[in-house]
Amino acid sequence: MTTELLFRTDSYATTASARVVSVGERGIELDRTIFYPMGGGQAGDTGALVRPTGERITIADTRKGEQVDSVLHVPAPGMARPDPGEIVTLEIDWPRRYALMRLHTALHVMSCVVVAPVTGGNIAPEKARLDFDIDMSLLDAAKIERETNAIIARGIDTEIVWINDSELDARPELVKTMSVSPPRGAGNVRLLKIPGVDLQPCGGTHVRNIGEIGAIHVLRIRSEGRRNRRVEIALA
Ligand SMILES: [Zn+2]
Repeated sequence: MTTELLFRTDSYATTASARVVSVGERGIELDRTIFYPMGGGQAGDTGALVRPTGERITIADTRKGEQVDSVLHVPAPGMARPDPGEIVTLEIDWPRRYALMRLHTALHVMSCVVVAPVTGGNIAPEKARLDFDIDMSLLDAAKIERETNAIIARGIDTEIVWINDSELDARPELVKTMSVSPPRGAGNVRLLKIPGVDLQPCGGTHVRNIGEIGAIHVLRIRSEGRRNRRVEIALA
């Protein structure tokens, strides 16, 4: 079952209604969703499904299902389950998701300040990190913070652009992240464009204007192995 992914076209949707398609061991599938499933280093959304009776089913996590574009809404322990066919109102934990969006977009900016292959990454609501294949001596926390914040202060609008697989294959330089393969599906690849700054395949959720990030703070830099020099950031 394929779920219509509303967050792909509108990452700012905080509520929507959807029909329950199936209720299984791993979670609840809907015909459409605003909940982002964990992937590409970004944490899955949390929130609630509100039943027609007003009963709230707390959603503790969101994961990808077995098939392409299927999404599993994972209820918190002890929650009731809705019935297939039921229409539910979706509510995401917006402050948490917005923090994820700001940090996620900040990583795109930082990946242009630290010019090195990205070997890993993770985005949680309170902090985010990228791992680089780079010499430790080239990573200066104050410089990374200053240069990232200078770009953020330019307040550039972000854009989502789609290209097809063969266009991506012809431009391998677009793929900075070696550990996460680009989000491909139906022959098309989604890219986040920050005009004049960054263009790279990404299936995650981002802010409309990088100015919304505000500013970032480099929490720490440490080595997690020869090819994983980890830069951890938080919103300032
Ligand atoms: Zn992204």
